Amino acid sequence: MAIPTKVTLEIVTPDRALVNEEVDEVELPGSEGYFGVLPGHTELLASLQVGELWYRVGQEKHYLAVAFGFVEVLPDRVTVLARIAEKAQDIDVARAEAAKKRAEERMSRSQVDMDFERARIALMKSLIRLQVASRARTRA
Ligand code: ATP
Repeated sequence: MAIPTKVTLEIVTPDRALVNEEVDEVELPGSEGYFGVLPGHTELLASLQVGELWYRVGQEKHYLAVAFGFVEVLPDRVTVLARIAEKAQDIDVARAEAAKKRAEERMSRSQVDMDFERARIALMKSLIRLQVASRARTRA
């Protein structure tokens, strides 16, 4: 079979479909670390962490913040079922700043491990949202 030249990227959350596009490259935050996908990638299933996802169409890169869920990779298709995902331009920076502040306060006060862990995840989500929001469309 011929090696595909593009990947169809689909990103959905329980609420909405965010992306359905033919792309050249994708990078995702897997639970074992960030990994890249080019057309013709080996099939795999991975779980997603809190992190930045980008995809490239030609010279243009597009960024999303994602948190948890799964990704299925096929040679010509990447399907992301994310628990939470936002495009860079849809991120409310003031809300993420407020979430960051709240999480930092909770981490400094929490005496129970579970509270600390929840605050740590909230902090990670807020930091990733701020990082992704700060990405203007860049040239690869
Ligand atoms: P907050 O404490 O501000 O509510 P959170 O981390 O608890 O943030 P989540 O549970 O991760 O929020 O997400 C709930 C919903 O709100 C999701 O649909 C998510 O996409 C959206 N969301 C959360 N924070 C932002 C943000 N800063 N900008 C845009 N959408 C956001």
